[in-house]
Amino acid sequence: MITVGILALQGAFLEHVRSLAACGSRTVEVRKAEQLDECQALIIPGGESTTIGKLMDSFGLWNPVRRFAAAGRPIFGTCAGMVLLAKDIEGSEQPRLGLMDIAIKRNAFGRQVDSFEADIHVPVLGEKPVRGVFIRAPFVTAVGSGVETLASFDGKVILVRQGKLLAGAFHPELTTDTRLHQYFLNFLNE
Ligand code: GLN
Repeated sequence: MITVGILALQGAFLEHVRSLAACGSRTVEVRKAEQLDECQALIIPGGESTTIGKLMDSFGLWNPVRRFAAAGRPIFGTCAGMVLLAKDIEGSEQPRLGLMDIAIKRNAFGRQVDSFEADIHVPVLGEKPVRGVFIRAPFVTAVGSGVETLASFDGKVILVRQGKLLAGAFHPELTTDTRLHQYFLNFLNE
């Protein structure tokens, strides 16, 4: 059975546990670097990227997570997790993993639409749209050459893949649709 780590410092990690259980995976809530050794893949959840970053400092997790990625193990960042995976964060010097060749803008959909839901067409998941739950969501403003855009909404890039790294602006774990988690887990069979 596959074991997936979920970075459980702050934010929406419990919901990912449920989605992954529905996909038949075992999960480990990761707070210590050693716990990464048991995991074949890792999810960085939504929350507040600056807070998660501070906790990653305290828990000494920056380099262990970078090594995890360098070893070719898949990482999926949702919302704040996407912010932490990005190389560029517009107007911010906050710490980040910088593993994906993307630029992102935080809280990018504006105050009037702080949170919203929308049907998102994600071709790699088939015809049926994904219900995207956006909460103070970022979007991607630039992608490097090795980055594949998997979905856009309102002309904004919101789901990207680079090798075994996946990043999405919305919260798939807040719905019962597990197709995106399953798509991520399939990276392990490639
Ligand atoms: N606005 C948050 C950030 O930039 C992300 C919000 C979320 O994860 N739902 O860190």
